[in-house]
Amino acid sequence: MRSAVVVGAGIGGLAAAGALARSGWRVTLLERDDRIRAGRAAVVLWPNGVRALRALGLAGGLEGISTPVPPAGIHRPDGSWLVPPGAAELESPPVVVHREDLHDAFIAGIGEQVDVRGGIAVQSARVRRDRPAVGDGRVMFEGDLVVAADGPDSAIRRRLAAASTFASAGFAAWRAVIPWYRAPELPAGVPGHGDVLGGGQRFAYASLGERGSAGGSSRGGISWVATVPGALRPEPPAGQLALLRRWFAGWHGPVAQLLDATEADDLVQEPVGEIIPLPDTLGIAAGAGGYALIGDAAHAMPHHLAQGASLALEDVATLQTVLAGGAVPAALHEYNRLRRPRILRVLQQSKKAAAVLQSRGRIAASIARVNPRSLERAAAAATEWGGPTG
Ligand SMILES: Cc1cc2nc3c(=O)[nH]c(=O)nc-3n(C[C@H](O)[C@H](O)[C@H](O)COP(=O)(O)OP(=O)(O)OC[C@H]3O[C@@H](n4cnc5c(N)ncnc54)[C@H](O)[C@@H]3O)c2cc1C
Repeated sequence: MRSAVVVGAGIGGLAAAGALARSGWRVTLLERDDRIRAGRAAVVLWPNGVRALRALGLAGGLEGISTPVPPAGIHRPDGSWLVPPGAAELESPPVVVHREDLHDAFIAGIGEQVDVRGGIAVQSARVRRDRPAVGDGRVMFEGDLVVAADGPDSAIRRRLAAASTFASAGFAAWRAVIPWYRAPELPAGVPGHGDVLGGGQRFAYASLGERGSAGGSSRGGISWVATVPGALRPEPPAGQLALLRRWFAGWHGPVAQLLDATEADDLVQEPVGEIIPLPDTLGIAAGAGGYALIGDAAHAMPHHLAQGASLALEDVATLQTVLAGGAVPAALHEYNRLRRPRILRVLQQSKKAAAVLQSRGRIAASIARVNPRSLERAAAAATEWGGPTG
């Protein structure tokens, strides 16, 4: 029986551990935190991410835990349209999912065949012997395959692709889910999701549905993401929340209402950045086995297109398919051949989206010849994925 060590139990690592176990691998899943837990946030999954879930056999319950968020245009802070709703060129609308619901689906998908170890912070990766192995300074874990799913600061990537580092994109971001019992009722006529953009700042929100209702998160609530130019804020969460309320004061729609209903404990502050340069290869042979870099460990990028989780799921679906074909080194070569050009294309779209976000005001936008519609077009183009075999 082939064995794999998966490092990191985020969206990518959980999906990879389950996919490998279901394909007959013996899997050890290592996570730095003591417990495996979902982030306190929601994610948008685009049609490509849903296709990847389907390829992994995990899309079965998705309709019951997700809410569609069809592109609904983008407002300026004063309420005028920056991008009026247009004909979206998508095979199906994106959906928003509570991370805890996704997490539950993945945990159910890993079954009993995965040996899950919490409290293991991997620090090293061995490349010179015949089999790959990673260690936390006390114990080495060996396998035919190591999957590096340890996020943007990946210790494994630092060892195997040292030139590629996580660099700030010059933004800080906050996510929150206002739980159902505190979520404000949106006034009549205000849509369940929206996107407001101006002065380099962005506020996007989406309702996760009524608690217990069909076709939405069983947890309910309202999710939002705020993006602001600048570095991470050193203030405690209550101070950060006060700043967010000031920066977004007077913004169109329910923005102020949502920030008022948010509590400091709901907030998750995150850096926004990119792995630069993209590693030369995302599949590294080591003897008769090797390493696969997946998700943010391989290609973290700014969240402007909300593609990070969908790309991680594409990585896993591709990896599962190529590994079914035979020897690990050849499969990793194929994994890189299929994934690297795809990631480079999405990075290009991400840069187009960043140009729109960074243009502050109408004059700057016209000087820079930035067409706000290119944000919508970049989002649609990023969903074009040919499936696990390209
Ligand atoms: C503000 C914001 C909004 C976003 N919105 C969306 C969205 O709507 N849709 C979308 O698709 N994407 C979105 N993203 C991106 C998305 O969240 C990420 O791309 C995705 O979570 C990456 O998953 P991952 O499993 O690769 O990494 P992570 O989620 O970072 O998981 C890495 C795991 O590895 C563990 N770990 C780290 N180091 C070690 C170590 N040394 N040893 C062992 N374990 C370790 C961590 O504890 C963690 O559990 C957003 C990102 C931001 C910042």
